[in-house]
Amino acid sequence: MTDGTESSVHRDTAGEMVCPACKARQVWSDQCRRCRCDLSLLRQWHGAGEAVRRRCLDELCRGRSEQALEYARRYALLAGRQEGARLLAICHLFCGNWAESCAALEEKPDCS
Ligand SMILES: [Zn+2]
Repeated sequence: MTDGTESSVHRDTAGEMVCPACKARQVWSDQCRRCRCDLSLLRQWHGAGEAVRRRCLDELCRGRSEQALEYARRYALLAGRQEGARLLAICHLFCGNWAESCAALEEKPDCS
């Protein structure tokens, strides 16, 4: 599933990224190893998203589910809907929002 956002296109689950210009897979860096494209803004955007994600997890560990949910929403905006869906769903579960949790994952039939 694609959510149409650019962020999920450039992220990689192994902690790497894909250059938006030439599609080279590499570790996060300010410059593409292949085409030398400037990736500094993309890297800053990724760093901002990761900071919000960590803050969300910190809030969950402290038992502050509502605050965690707000950070999860911010993360989903920064990282893209697909990337943020699981974190958003988990935060909704901690808040007792069962239907919203399922909706975050778009798997409503599995919630019964
Ligand atoms: Zn490149």
